Amino acid sequence: MATATATASRKRLFIDGQWVDAADGRTLGVINPATEEVICEIAYGGRKDARRALEAAARAMPAWMKLTAWDRAKVLKKTADLMRERLESIARTLTMEQGKPLPESRAEINHSADTFEWFAEEGKRAYGQVIPQMKTINRHMTIKHPVGVVAAISPWNFPITLQSRKIAPALAAGCTIVSKPASQTPLSLVQVFECMIEAGLPPGVANLVVGPAQELGDEFLENPICRKLSFTGSTEVGKMLMKGCADQMKRVSLELGGHAPFIIFPDADPEAGAKIAVTGKFRNNGQVCIAPSRFYVHKDVAKNFTEAVVEGAKKLKLGNGLEDGVEVGPMFEKKALDNTVDLVDDAKKRGGKILSGGKRSDRFDKGYFFEPTVLTNVSGEMKLMVEEPFAPVMPVLDFSKLDDVIRAANNTRYGLAAYVFTNDLTVAWKMAEGLEAGIIGINEPVPAVPQCPFGGMKESGMGRELGHEGLEAYLETKYVAIRLRD
Ligand code: NAP
Repeated sequence: MATATATASRKRLFIDGQWVDAADGRTLGVINPATEEVICEIAYGGRKDARRALEAAARAMPAWMKLTAWDRAKVLKKTADLMRERLESIARTLTMEQGKPLPESRAEINHSADTFEWFAEEGKRAYGQVIPQMKTINRHMTIKHPVGVVAAISPWNFPITLQSRKIAPALAAGCTIVSKPASQTPLSLVQVFECMIEAGLPPGVANLVVGPAQELGDEFLENPICRKLSFTGSTEVGKMLMKGCADQMKRVSLELGGHAPFIIFPDADPEAGAKIAVTGKFRNNGQVCIAPSRFYVHKDVAKNFTEAVVEGAKKLKLGNGLEDGVEVGPMFEKKALDNTVDLVDDAKKRGGKILSGGKRSDRFDKGYFFEPTVLTNVSGEMKLMVEEPFAPVMPVLDFSKLDDVIRAANNTRYGLAAYVFTNDLTVAWKMAEGLEAGIIGINEPVPAVPQCPFGGMKESGMGRELGHEGLEAYLETKYVAIRLRD
């Protein structure tokens, strides 16, 4: 656990409409991965704080769910407006706590503001149905009902986006929520909460707790007030939480890990494909759940593609994300850096050939910088082909036949995203149908917009965020049966 310097400022938890210290007074230092310095202290709560937050959310829910969707939308829309107004300030915080370069932080905040705005509107479309009867005396319909108090747990790689995908639809549906961001990236979310408060958030409707994951998680699982757990994070923790939800039959949504294939067909320009591949792979240092992490290139264009990605990777400017022109920041934490070193060492031991990068950058005295890496001579048993890599490493393999590459791409326990680069509609369509992934990008390196469903197949998760499905995740369907008088 990091300790804060005397100069670091201090942020608090937000429970029942108040900024508060942790019940037992604990705090945690948040570290800037570019400088390894503590930039701020945050109150670090425990079960007692999580319980207070759940109780506040339960008290707030009856009045919040009784508001019309139009009234709830006002708070969400105003939040979006304030996030855009405060873009620069929030972006600096996000870069300092997470490491990503400022342009990526701005993009994250804009996407999150769009998410708030979109769910403000979509909440108005929580339609039920009138269903035709079999007997003249009956009438049947469905109406929608909020699932109840939600607990939302998210990781560090997109601290604002991943909470926005939970908070916005939950509130739009009439639920109330307790948000638990990753311990090391709570600060930008604090600023989003400030926007929500100024937008008119009633006390208790959204609460923010930070603290040891297991402690808070146990309270969410064991306290019957919590009716739904929405989790984004690793497959391992997701499975554990899903088991924990079974005891009280809590609703659960799981957005988990991925290992996305990126497939380049010979009909398309390999250099253009390489540009997209470099953008998609090295965004946020590859620490993205939908990051492409296995590159299958048709043998006819493999040489040109590989040369172009190596050139692209070498040109990327590495540095502190606050500086102008920086395209790749530090990795998020020492553990992530060590894991990347380990993956690359393992690949080298198994015959992998490094074409660019391959090591921790020696240009910096401080910070967790790893050089963008491209490697070939890749084999299926390398760790980076089996485990989710979450690293700035691009393994390049070649293929000849469409059916073979579909088989190779699907040969994983994950099924979150997959990418195809082609101009041939038939190929694109066969790939979209054949690939086992919840999200498919055709010539599109960042397939994530508020209005389309986002989520995984297989061990990449359960349920969808965003899109109308993202609202449905916070709604129960009630069947109302009416018998008329004769
Ligand atoms: P993680 O270890 O599963 O942590 C994610 C969140 O869960 C953090 O808030 C963490 O809290 C909390 N947590 C950890 N153990 C817990 C427990 N026993 N009970 C309750 N909460 C617990 O994941 P990570 O390694 O930090 O994040 C990266 C993973 O997230 C990758 O696998 C990535 O693919 C996945 N991800 C998925 C999506 C998607 O949409 N599918 C998006 C982004 C990331 P602390 O921070 O306090 O430990």
